[in-house]
Amino acid sequence: MAGLYGITMLGLQPIPSNRRQNDMIRYCKTCLMPNTRPRIVFCEAGICNACRNAEARQKIDWAARRQEFLELVAEHRKPGALYDCVIPWSGGKDSSYIAHRIKFEFGLNPLLVTFAPLMPTDIGMNNRRALLELGFDHVYVTPSPKIGRHLAQRFFIERGNPKVGWDAGINAVPVQVAANYDIPLIFYAEHGESEYGGRVLKPDMLKFRDFTEVLEHQIGDDPRNWLDETVTERDLAPYLYPPAEKLERADVKALYFAYFFPWDVTENYHYIKQKIPFQLAPNGRSDGTFTGYDSLDDKIDNVYYYLQFIKFGFGRALRDACRQIYRGRLSREDALKHVHNYDDEFPHTYFNDVIDYLGMNREKFDAVIDMHRNEEIWGKSGNGWVLRHPPV
Ligand SMILES: [Zn+2]
Repeated sequence: MAGLYGITMLGLQPIPSNRRQNDMIRYCKTCLMPNTRPRIVFCEAGICNACRNAEARQKIDWAARRQEFLELVAEHRKPGALYDCVIPWSGGKDSSYIAHRIKFEFGLNPLLVTFAPLMPTDIGMNNRRALLELGFDHVYVTPSPKIGRHLAQRFFIERGNPKVGWDAGINAVPVQVAANYDIPLIFYAEHGESEYGGRVLKPDMLKFRDFTEVLEHQIGDDPRNWLDETVTERDLAPYLYPPAEKLERADVKALYFAYFFPWDVTENYHYIKQKIPFQLAPNGRSDGTFTGYDSLDDKIDNVYYYLQFIKFGFGRALRDACRQIYRGRLSREDALKHVHNYDDEFPHTYFNDVIDYLGMNREKFDAVIDMHRNEEIWGKSGNGWVLRHPPV
């Protein structure tokens, strides 16, 4: 799930912090993102900070950034080390693009680290194998499926997000591996808060990953709060960051690749499909959107994005369309057509497998969906629901 590896999961707070109650739902005038997106900030002119960031990126001196990258890497390389860096790697277009460039353009020796998807797909497996065959080393961490599934079931019901546990794991495991193998650098993709709308508390955050920020924004709580009749303290091992002293001793630095180089998810896809036989979504596009190259490795992702639509009123097509608007690939008008065509599409692909995994039937699934439906955003219409303020 490239999107998720790239720190783009939304926070879990159901009430967006920047909207007062009874505030109208507003959409950015440049892209289509609504102010229901957690932590997004709009300027007086009605433009979101993701658009502002995209504008600012056009003025970046990329040659200087590249130089900064080379210097940082040289500074942190450990003589005699077996690996130069860890790359959190789903096998999706973005992390494979980074891995390929790091190894073949910059001559570094990366260790690719995957936290197993909840429900791995054949497409994801094939895409991973295709890159590995070019000569990469890989650590694939599978947490207890029993605990992974229990957390998915529990958080799907409690928070409308089956991936809360997985999200903690994908954050913690690459850092654990770096600390344990004495690897000084981790390369993440993009800083989601600035790229897609959110708060940037200090400028360095676009360059270095701030572990505290990640914990606060992505997980929303500490995995130690998840203990219950099934989950014991020892079960949490794959979900916890190494202790601060250990991180400090290992001197692990995490960098965002997208700070140093132009970042365009469509371009990443074009790059990687020339290097490996990269498989797309069945039928060429994923449920709920017009693209077929993103989030392909976990069957449960389609349901994850559908819940985002239920909770925040924007779906996967809107998210993908905004990313293309930021890079000048799509007009707002054409983006709107994609949103109208696909945003409300039900996650049919793999659906029976997913409800089996979640241990429920369709009725129970629908009941959970309606429990998380935000009625500030949705209004009843006949037997169904419509957005009170659809994007225009
Ligand atoms: Zn915008």
